[in-house]
Amino acid sequence: MLELLKGESQGVRVRPRWPSSKVLIEQSTFIKMIEAQSMLPPSIRLLIVRGYESKSSNLGFFRILSRWLGIRVFCTFYPERKNEVSDIFGSNGHDVDGTHVDVSIVLNGKRLRFLPFGVFTSLTRQKAVAAEHLVVIHVVKDALRQCGFEIHKNQTESMQIHCDYKG
Ligand SMILES: [Zn+2]
Repeated sequence: MLELLKGESQGVRVRPRWPSSKVLIEQSTFIKMIEAQSMLPPSIRLLIVRGYESKSSNLGFFRILSRWLGIRVFCTFYPERKNEVSDIFGSNGHDVDGTHVDVSIVLNGKRLRFLPFGVFTSLTRQKAVAAEHLVVIHVVKDALRQCGFEIHKNQTESMQIHCDYKG
């Protein structure tokens, strides 16, 4: 398992999601991420924000607490989307091993944010924000898929590009 700190490593950027200070990722997964990056034009950079997080760490505890709170808020705002709770608030493998990563896109030095209100961003708003960058999103997801990554099927998870390296 590799430990990546904020910065740049072999062309791929790293910015651990708060409150993490590092991203843990399987070496083979990281190598594939570098390969995906190499398929992209220089104006597009992959930014790894989340990888493996042990359940028993302080971070794990923080995630459990914020998940508990998040589910309640989410269900208040979107009672009709209760069926998405497990996809959005489940650990999606992050507590299993370092092959599950969340990736953002940096375009011309600027991070693209498709979820201005995090997972609470409405689907309509997500689509509106993403509309401007459909080509970039497509190119990035295509490169990731070609390198053995599977993108999460839930729209919100797919916007924060949760992907699993399948080898
Ligand atoms: Zn994820």
